[in-house]
Amino acid sequence: MGLRFLVTGGAGFVGSAVIRHLIADTVHVVANVDKLTYAGNLDSLAEVASSDRYSFHKLDICNQESMARLLSDFQPDIVMHLAAESHVDRSIDGPAAFIQTNIVGTYSLLESARAYWQTLDGSRKANFRFHHVSTDEVYGDLEGAESLFTEETPYAPSSPYSATKASSDHLVRAWQRTYGLPVVITNCSNNYGPYHFPEKLIPHIILNAIQGKPLPVYGNGGQIRDWLYVEDHARALVEVATRGRVGETYNIGGHNEKRNLEVVETLCTLLDELAVDERPTTLKSYKELITFVNDRPGHDQRYAIDASKIQRELGWVPRETFDSGIRKTVEWYLINRPWWQRVLSGDYQLARLGAADLATATVKKD
Ligand code: NAD
Repeated sequence: MGLRFLVTGGAGFVGSAVIRHLIADTVHVVANVDKLTYAGNLDSLAEVASSDRYSFHKLDICNQESMARLLSDFQPDIVMHLAAESHVDRSIDGPAAFIQTNIVGTYSLLESARAYWQTLDGSRKANFRFHHVSTDEVYGDLEGAESLFTEETPYAPSSPYSATKASSDHLVRAWQRTYGLPVVITNCSNNYGPYHFPEKLIPHIILNAIQGKPLPVYGNGGQIRDWLYVEDHARALVEVATRGRVGETYNIGGHNEKRNLEVVETLCTLLDELAVDERPTTLKSYKELITFVNDRPGHDQRYAIDASKIQRELGWVPRETFDSGIRKTVEWYLINRPWWQRVLSGDYQLARLGAADLATATVKKD
């Protein structure tokens, strides 16, 4: 029999990949809780929407009363918490929403989950998991070309985004230590892949290129990130949620360190092969559209993950290399134009109207 997953932020980039994986590849039952901010997109869940193992609930995680009702109705075995404000540039322009959702929202969800967990008995109580999904950005800037973030690396966040994620990680650990709530935490490197909101580097570059627009690169493009295909992250999350040891942190990474400029140039090379017909005739390569812009304040130079613990304990390894994953990603954006055209036009947000009606619908049971 399947487990019951309550996933927060399931209409986002990573959350929707987790839910597509849970419905397509497992027998688990999923309740998706999402407020549908600008980053939430129900189009990304079209392939699971009609499953009788899936339900959607338009809710703010800060609303403890509604969350308590949903937890009591749905009776989850696992709360997987992905709801967050996630874009570093937006956190620099306006940190308030990050404080509210990432810190206050996580606190609020912890309290709702704790109250629900205390109503459980026996093995259901012992086996319950609160899985907090976090980022490698909490560790700050890596010094030296050889060092890697391990689960023991001290926290040193640089941006308002990473500071709020670090704060939420501390709250989750405290709720375990103080109240005994059975938690697991994962810290993952940069994801890429299908259904990625076009404000993030990789989709932004692909879509700008095929529209003949400049390809902005921060500073000299020398910042190094460790890239992981989003479906590999989704599989890792389900492994940790179902088999991870209580109270433990697992780092997740792709062993794919790349400079930002290298990523952009790789995308241009792939587009020169796969989208040559769309290249403006004045260009010999999409690379000619690369434009260096002022660096982001506080920009970390290097992130890289040591993912040996999750490999050793849970046997998880990424299936995609950077070469295979980035090719799949470019092909996906070239094929799935309606998805991103509806994002760029704003039409994807029309789904919110329908979602508001769904919010009052009764919870589907398996
Ligand atoms: P995203 O911005 O694409 O999605 C976030 C989702 O949360 C959206 O659907 C949004 O509507 C929802 N949400 C926001 N505030 C909410 C609230 N108050 N109540 C309910 N729902 C709310 O983000 P993502 O890239 O999918 O990231 C998901 C999680 O994974 C985040 O916690 C992020 O820190 C973490 N993470 C992401 C990456 C990455 O590369 N994308 C890497 C490591 C960790």
